[in-house]
Amino acid sequence: MKTAKLAKSYRMEDGANLCLKDFDTADTANFKSKEEAEEKLQKDIARMADLQDKLYAQDQWSLLLIFQALDAAGKDGTIKHVMSGVNPEGCQVHSFKVPSETELQHDFLWRTTVQLPERGHIGIFNRSYYEEVLVVRVHADALKNEKLPASLVTKKIWDERFEDINTFERHLARNGTVIRKFFLYLSKKEQKRRFLERLDEPEKNWKFSASDIHEREYWDDYQKAYEEMIRNTATKHAPWYIVPADHKWFTHLVVASAIVETLDELGVSYPKVDASKRKEIKEASKELLKK
Ligand code: ATP
Ligand code: MG
Repeated sequence: MKTAKLAKSYRMEDGANLCLKDFDTADTANFKSKEEAEEKLQKDIARMADLQDKLYAQDQWSLLLIFQALDAAGKDGTIKHVMSGVNPEGCQVHSFKVPSETELQHDFLWRTTVQLPERGHIGIFNRSYYEEVLVVRVHADALKNEKLPASLVTKKIWDERFEDINTFERHLARNGTVIRKFFLYLSKKEQKRRFLERLDEPEKNWKFSASDIHEREYWDDYQKAYEEMIRNTATKHAPWYIVPADHKWFTHLVVASAIVETLDELGVSYPKVDASKRKEIKEASKELLKK
């Protein structure tokens, strides 16, 4: 069974000429059911807890996980399931909604920059600065709200944003932030099924938003914007994972695998104790035993 490096086959380090249509939203690799995947998922979640402990103790690298998707693709559920084993002290989740007045007073990277993870920490962005080349590209009004000087808003603005994002991410990577980006790729049919579920099941009613249904009308524009985004911002230092999202259990499996594979590749380990520290430890235990 293809489990050793499951996530690697969904990882894009170069997006040139990529077509989303070539990817299967319902893919489940060699797994036939949720039950079959459960053992690997639990193993990965346990392994993640161990690796996070080392990341925290080492206090050098930070890990930034970015989640982008259309509504009902399962961002929230994925974050909840996949991170269920990690120590909350070393992990922060930030959700980025429609920008506030204060946020609109700044450049488009400002609000996310102040929430970047500290060294040793895992930072999760539920939506991110990528909204600036997605919803802002699909809806012209959103760009108008940004108060940019008119002379700076040209046809080149999206290419400029891609360039700025790539440079920003390269800067972060060069300073010890490991970036992994997840696009949860859902079919239009499955989105409809999940919206209907939100309407039919009382416990899911709270998730329903009429604006989500309205946004569905822009489905094709969004697909194009996502495709352009991945083509232009998939890099070796900040790859995109195109995660099949029609089966939630498989989404969780791929994301968990990706995080484990990343921390494994990084080779995080507990800091080595030097001779003087060892001496200190020896003396401290002697002292304690005396009392
Ligand atoms: P989610 O849809 O992520 O589960 P939610 O339903 O709790 O979150 P929403 O009110 O839908 O909350 O907030 C997210 C909305 O904010 C999305 O429609 C998203 O496109 C929009 N948004 C995020 N960032 C920006 C941005 N920079 N400019 C304009 N709109 C943005
Ligand atoms: Mg929403």
